[in-house]
Amino acid sequence: PEWPKNGGISFLDVSASYESSSEPILKDINLEIKPGEMVAICGRTGSGKSSLVSTILRMLELDNGSITIDGIDISTIPRHKIRSRLNTLPQEPFFLPGDVRLNIDPLENKDDDEIIEALEGVGLWDYFKSKSGLDEELVDDTLSNGQRKLFCLARARCTSSSILIIDEATSSVDSETEELMQKIIRTKFKDQTIISIAHKLYTILDFDKVAVLDKGRLVEYDAPQAL
Ligand code: ATP
Ligand code: MG
Repeated sequence: PEWPKNGGISFLDVSASYESSSEPILKDINLEIKPGEMVAICGRTGSGKSSLVSTILRMLELDNGSITIDGIDISTIPRHKIRSRLNTLPQEPFFLPGDVRLNIDPLENKDDDEIIEALEGVGLWDYFKSKSGLDEELVDDTLSNGQRKLFCLARARCTSSSILIIDEATSSVDSETEELMQKIIRTKFKDQTIISIAHKLYTILDFDKVAVLDKGRLVEYDAPQAL
């Protein structure tokens, strides 16, 4: 498979800012995530969690330091390539104008059977089957909040990658949907490196590591039991 094959991520002395920000938002971050680990990112609102994962997608400017994925400095890799090779579940699900097929598999890598299987896996296939199936047009408010999240999970399953980045929304889906999502993440993405911004402690008890941010600094990095 293509880069990143293993999904190891290292931050070395990283300070980063947004174009519009005058001072660094992330300060002196050192972080080593091994291939296949599940790492939670925690911290108060505004502490820099979304910014941290955004630096992996090269959405912030580095003022200092470097980030490598499988040993390759990501500043040498075009943004579009990084974004197409890493799997992300965004805080706010988004859809392209078009049908279900396009929205699950925009790069047209999968055949219909695989797309249907991914939708079955998140419990959405019956819903679309009763409409126009994969040809069903997705208009902005067709799906409920929970269905949108599940849809993004099906999309992620159809993107082969060794890394899954999750920005868990605070606005919650119902507990049944959340349980289903947690289960899918642990079974279908088992071999991937998972970085998850987590707001609820009970969802990260089985994670390998927890990174705690405070005002843009990494203040803890350890197993959840140790914190
Ligand atoms: P939350 O839990 O509310 O999602 P967070 O930990 O994800 O918070 P960030 O969104 O990373 O926090 O924000 C960290 C800091 O960066 C905040 O001070 C915020 O104002 C600033 N910030 C976030 N996005 C931008 C942006 N696009 N441009 C400039 N500053 C930003
Ligand atoms: Mg955030």
